[in-house]
Amino acid sequence: MNVQAVSALLAALLILAIGASVLLKNRTDRTYTSFAAFAFTVSAWQLCTFVAMATGTPLVRWLALWPAATIPPTAIAFFRGFLAQPSIGGPHRPPRVTLAWTILAYLGLIYSAVVHPIHDELWFQIPFGAYVFGGLYRCVYDMYIQYRATAKRVERTRVRYLALGGFVAITLALTDFLPRFGVEWPTSGNVLSILYLYFISQTLFRYRLIDINELVGKMAVLGTLVALLWAVYGLLLSWVGGGQEGLQLLNALVASFVILILFEPVRNWLENGINRWLIRTRAELRGRLDAVRRELVGVVDIADMVARIITALEESRRVTDAAIYLLDADGAGFDRAGAFGQLPPDRLDATVAKGFLDRVRVGHLDLELLRREHDELGADPAYAERRQAIAAAITQTEELRAALVFPLLGTAETEQGPWLLGLLAVRDDRAAGAFDLDDIDTFRQLASQAARVIESNQAYEGVKERDRLAALGEMAAGLAHEIRNPLGAIKGAAQLLVGPDGKATEPGPETAEFLGIIVEEVNRLNNVVTRFLDYARADKTEAQGATKVDVNAVVKKTVQLLHQSHEARNIDIAVRLDELLPPVNGDPEALVQVFLNLGLNACQAMPEGGTLEILTTRRRRSRLGYGQFAEVRFRDTGHGIARDKLKKLFIPFFTTKSRGTGLGLAISQRIISQHGGTIEVRSTVGQGSTFSVFLPALPVATVIATPAAMPALAEGEAEGERDPDTGDVTALVAGADQRAS
Ligand code: ADP
Repeated sequence: MNVQAVSALLAALLILAIGASVLLKNRTDRTYTSFAAFAFTVSAWQLCTFVAMATGTPLVRWLALWPAATIPPTAIAFFRGFLAQPSIGGPHRPPRVTLAWTILAYLGLIYSAVVHPIHDELWFQIPFGAYVFGGLYRCVYDMYIQYRATAKRVERTRVRYLALGGFVAITLALTDFLPRFGVEWPTSGNVLSILYLYFISQTLFRYRLIDINELVGKMAVLGTLVALLWAVYGLLLSWVGGGQEGLQLLNALVASFVILILFEPVRNWLENGINRWLIRTRAELRGRLDAVRRELVGVVDIADMVARIITALEESRRVTDAAIYLLDADGAGFDRAGAFGQLPPDRLDATVAKGFLDRVRVGHLDLELLRREHDELGADPAYAERRQAIAAAITQTEELRAALVFPLLGTAETEQGPWLLGLLAVRDDRAAGAFDLDDIDTFRQLASQAARVIESNQAYEGVKERDRLAALGEMAAGLAHEIRNPLGAIKGAAQLLVGPDGKATEPGPETAEFLGIIVEEVNRLNNVVTRFLDYARADKTEAQGATKVDVNAVVKKTVQLLHQSHEARNIDIAVRLDELLPPVNGDPEALVQVFLNLGLNACQAMPEGGTLEILTTRRRRSRLGYGQFAEVRFRDTGHGIARDKLKKLFIPFFTTKSRGTGLGLAISQRIISQHGGTIEVRSTVGQGSTFSVFLPALPVATVIATPAAMPALAEGEAEGERDPDTGDVTALVAGADQRAS
């Protein structure tokens, strides 16, 4: 028998075992069963190849082609299902196209059996081989595509290994055919396919792709184990066997028992030892965690902090499962804020887990130590209560999928001790006791840094609340001012109509004038109240009249209206529109109101004349984050806005104009935030201001609404209520979303 035949037989048996082991683990999961189907097909092909080589029967040679023809669809079905798993996140796609080719291959084989044995002809074999290997390379290509699409760095590296390994294994399997064409070539493809299938089967058991180090560890364990078992077998059979035929069978039985009894403990011992040794050599954890701890100094946002810690833990590859829990607002429990690996529960109730939390508050929990403590207490009834408490802590720690749980402690003290702000749970499920004291110290420092971030965030939120209250006060003062002025005028006029003796004065020429003042001032009051209500109502009119809007058309309409207003008399209005601007979802009339307000404000900031540039562009990001945005920018060459005023622009009733209402920008900002957008302001005193409106874009589609005739609005806004004011000198970039209510 030649080497190729033997290697085919070995490959068939090993791959069969790998497939069976996966199936034994789980027979309900689609990914598992489709992997087994793939492995069994490969195994069947190897087995037929072996028989064909050993016996040389043409029928078996023909039979071997059936499993070969079945390899591509089973492979593609498995890999697509595998890549679509949540941990990798690829799209779901069935192997439809391949199935058509498979049917063609089957038909060819049937034709070959019934009509004419074409399967021995080279012109059949080459396209047939191309189909089989093409199908396999297709799987590699799918993995490559997934590699390009995966955003997470760690997963990316793993999918890349998987694709690369697949490519090498398939290519080497292909070179196994070289001897048939007279080229001398060692058979190495089988060994690699076995390794590769083993690698994938291990990956299936782990909820995530294993990395190279882990695989090396696994192989080392397996290799040592095989050698050990082999030695035990050999020893028993050669020493005790004594060569007698009948005894051989009995000895094999005894040897198998010995091995089975030894197998579990030996494997665990080896696995832990080798993994620990392998893992210890990697200093990634400390380096990565120290780096993130330094980064955290500049972080205030809690979500950002959690994301950074989780990513760092994942990238350190020292931890297979990790989670961060944070105290909720009313202190009733802890919510999971971030995690990777096997997901622990969403929430930890403070009353249910009280004993556990009290323990964590005092210092970190180590599952190994807890277990040891539990065992040491023994069955002595005197310790029953303590043992129960420890058992509860162990269960809780296991539920958190943790080997170590660290407290995030605040500096403030409570009755029960330090204030527990959150928990950090970590585990390495590859080896028990994988973390040494240095590692534990690193985690502890990380946890305390995280607690600092949470505390400074709370302080920051406090400042924000103060700002909000200050803005509210400012608004109230503005509103009072708006109401008092007309009230004063009304009172003055009324007093003149009453006269010093308390009786109504005789109607004279001034009477009509005074009454006119009263009516005018009451109208003004009414106007203030109406606009304030507009502002208050702006929050509730959400989805009203929302359609697809062509922003360029809205801008054109605004410019038309601006030209009609007397504020724009000495102003050069330059308009630049981006023809490819994507549509947005919204209310065109409300947008005209906003743009007109920004345009008129700009004109009023240039009493001596100047240029107002209005432009639209596509943007990939705004302060709201990344995405498609349509930006509309109003840049004037006016007097600009002083730094201290910049912060107050969007507070209702903030105005620097003698007859301004200070509601224009506040209302505009509301409208834009209802559109999911934002307004940004930049200004340099003496040089001008830029107001940018960012609106989230819709994907380009069919019906686009343009603003219809809306002249009334324009006239209302353009009325000479606004007086330009003179600003002082500074520059700043400001966020525009201070909200005063
Ligand atoms: P109003 O125009 O009634 O004062 P707004 O809310 O529209 O109310 O504007 C508030 C204030 O913002 C204005 O009083 C003005 O001081 C300032 N402002 C707005 N736009 C500009 C601009 N383009 N240049 C300079 N200052 C501006």
